[in-house]
Amino acid sequence: MHMKVRVDRELCLSAGNCIAIAPTVFEFDEERKAVVLDPTSVDDDTLLEAAESCPFDAIIVEDEQGRQIYP
Ligand code: SF4
Repeated sequence: MHMKVRVDRELCLSAGNCIAIAPTVFEFDEERKAVVLDPTSVDDDTLLEAAESCPFDAIIVEDEQGRQIYP
């Protein structure tokens, strides 16, 4: 399965947990909001783990059909 991931910029408060867990998927932009780089660079478990690590539920994960998996 290929999951889709995006960050809600309003919710992201720069905690950085996602980057700590998946530095190839997330990075800070110039406003210190997380942006998505390459979600295919890690397995789905790591992607979900990164999403679950966000204290503000700012990381939205969807399946291939666009159904929301997390949060
Ligand atoms: S863990 Fe959440 S709040 Fe922290 S940088 Fe990632 S998306 Fe933003």
